[in-house]
Amino acid sequence: MRRKFVAGNWKMNGNLAALAELDAIAKAIDARVDVAVAVPATLIHPAAERAGFPIGAEDVHAADSGAHTGCVSAPMIKEAGAAFSIVGHSERRQGQGESDADVKAKAEACRRHGLDAILCVGETLEQREAGEAEQVVTAQVRASLPDGADGGWLAIAYEPIWAIGTGKVATVADVEAMHAAIRSALVAALGTEQGGAIRLLYGGSVTADNAAGLLHAAEVDGALVGGASLTAAKFAPIIAAA
Ligand code: PGA
Repeated sequence: MRRKFVAGNWKMNGNLAALAELDAIAKAIDARVDVAVAVPATLIHPAAERAGFPIGAEDVHAADSGAHTGCVSAPMIKEAGAAFSIVGHSERRQGQGESDADVKAKAEACRRHGLDAILCVGETLEQREAGEAEQVVTAQVRASLPDGADGGWLAIAYEPIWAIGTGKVATVADVEAMHAAIRSALVAALGTEQGGAIRLLYGGSVTADNAAGLLHAAEVDGALVGGASLTAAKFAPIIAAA
């Protein structure tokens, strides 16, 4: 049985004052659900000191150290108190030109340093309209899947790019179809036990209003929440809906 997992992604938002939201989020957590929040690199340390639940990074470099100006490594975020990192978010795949190979290497860096990873995949609107969504997303899963992938440390987030931050949410039927396709790809790659243990999260305009339907859809083990994770007032009802 896979436990429900609700993760927040603050993106390039938040400051020290905003960490007060974490206190209120902590109060909303109940024992049935795993809750975690990814914050900007500058906030990992103070957030992890304060939160009492897992805090993560939004990205991590694949290398442990070296000439990579502006980047942070897995050992660095770990020392700062991170328990996990998001890898392969579409805002990095698209905005920073990250390939599946880059994403795989970043996830493997997490594993090397005892960090969990949330690996994101998702199609563009153009790809969905062309009927290529499942093919594109399962290809991303296969090519980004890190060595040693298993449900103990890895979760996969399906985030259709057209649903992120747009208020346009995928239908429950579309999410179920995609999650079933991702599950099949995982089972084909890893076998029934390991492929069946990796949690599949949905992300893209998840709110208190649509969370219950999405979180209880077939093969949906949780949510990756952007905008609605910034305040406890919006995030707590999503946790409760899980
Ligand atoms: P959103 O972002 O909930 O604001 O759409 C989700 C994400 O990008 O992880």
